[in-house]
Amino acid sequence: MLTEAVQAETETDKEDIFAERMTLYERYEALTMVPWYYLAAVDQYERNIANVRDDIREPEGTIAIQFPKSWWAGELNPNPNDRFPDTIQFFGGFGMDGDGDGYAEADNDDDVLYAMSQWLSRYGVTEDDFRIALWEYYGRDLTVQVIHSIADIYRHFGTLDLDKNAFPLALEYNYSYRSTWGDRRGWGGRRIHEGTDLFADYGTPVKSTTYGKIEVMGWNRYGGWRIGIRDIHNNYHYYAHLSRFADDVKAGQIVEPGTIIGYVGSTGYGKEGTSGKFPPHLHYGIYKDNGRTEWSYDPYPSLRLWEKEEKQRQKNA
Ligand SMILES: [Zn+2]
Repeated sequence: MLTEAVQAETETDKEDIFAERMTLYERYEALTMVPWYYLAAVDQYERNIANVRDDIREPEGTIAIQFPKSWWAGELNPNPNDRFPDTIQFFGGFGMDGDGDGYAEADNDDDVLYAMSQWLSRYGVTEDDFRIALWEYYGRDLTVQVIHSIADIYRHFGTLDLDKNAFPLALEYNYSYRSTWGDRRGWGGRRIHEGTDLFADYGTPVKSTTYGKIEVMGWNRYGGWRIGIRDIHNNYHYYAHLSRFADDVKAGQIVEPGTIIGYVGSTGYGKEGTSGKFPPHLHYGIYKDNGRTEWSYDPYPSLRLWEKEEKQRQKNA
């Protein structure tokens, strides 16, 4: 349990880090015309995958972007640790000197960010140009989509500080849930039950748990009326069996923690509009992308925490 003083200090540290990162993004936006939210999105994506992958080292600097060694120096460069911009350029490497000290260093925040902005701006500075540059760099559609969504979220809110969460059901309604992870008899599970079922009455408001972008919205044979929301931490949040969507939400929209996205129902397990094959509940799942695969993890501990935090906020209000 964090004391209030320690918590306040951690908050300040976080604000300092966000400010430091923003300064760097804006510096290279000014130099290369690549908007800060694109640089921030690529950086955040790389931070996210480093956090969940064993084969990527933990980022040490302010910037988390890591070029593969041979890409930095150039694949045919006889010196894989080359730091000279001229020879790196000769061998077609990505390495560049951002801070003007004469060296292109793969572990220098300025150099790395400058190199990435140069790569991103190579086809131009429209959204489509960035998509192409990202696809050529990562070679994976989902990665391009995730980075694009993160960029949209940053642009919309104009800040990097987007870590707050909300509980998906309004606390003043009746609801109950328990850990149903891996339950084979759960509703909505294909192989195992990938999520938590929150039982509540028809029409209970369902809220977004995070800042995010609505990527998917519509009918699905198992999930019924469902919504998929991508956040800035490479998580995809899945809300299923809704009786209906909130009137003013649409695909592509940016949401924040607490935005009402729909209402509890019992839709699914049949053709469009099928309802009532099981008791009304919200099926909530979280899928994490590590840059190679997307897998489902147990949302139950997060739900318990967000519920507690929200009760605390209400008490303090
Ligand atoms: Zn379920």
